[in-house]
Amino acid sequence: MDKYTKRKVAAADAGACLICDRRTVVVLHCAASGDWFFCCDLHLQDNPQFARPNYSSAYHDACRRAAELADRLAAAEKTNSTGWDSWLGRLATSKKKPAVPAKDGAPAQDQDKTEDKDEKPAKVTSADLRREYESELATIATLRNKPTSYNLSGVMLTARVERRKRLAARAEQLREEEKAYSNTDPQQLLQRYHFPELPKR
Ligand SMILES: [Zn+2]
Repeated sequence: MDKYTKRKVAAADAGACLICDRRTVVVLHCAASGDWFFCCDLHLQDNPQFARPNYSSAYHDACRRAAELADRLAAAEKTNSTGWDSWLGRLATSKKKPAVPAKDGAPAQDQDKTEDKDEKPAKVTSADLRREYESELATIATLRNKPTSYNLSGVMLTARVERRKRLAARAEQLREEEKAYSNTDPQQLLQRYHFPELPKR
């Protein structure tokens, strides 16, 4: 009953937002109760007092991976006692290497290469982790904008249920009044009707 799906209606059918009264084409609809109302997209973001989004499992997976990557990244940069700054520094030195003439003979080059091999895994891992992490963050941002289903907060849900009860009661009342009106002599009806009294001062 508290599960509402976000939908859009045609521009011609736009209506006043429940919260801010601005015209919007976004509606929340509850399939179970049939209740629905207009509501700007804006109020559905970071507004748990109103409604909590049901993110896809892909979103939760991405969050878990991002958290994991953040941990690994932090650990990698710590072990790398040198840290990010010196990572950039080493990147600069390694970029200079190709400029050194390669005529010093094979042994020197080999030495260079082993040095590279020692350093590279750490460097690549750190950079790769960072890239992976950022790509997960991008996925999260995209998926975050797409939940189509929300759980209405308790307060909101109660308000919606009460409103429906009131509407139903009023409709029933109108129906009864109409029936009474058509069955009764107008003169009698006038006598039976309680006109509002003048408010006391
Ligand atoms: Zn609004």
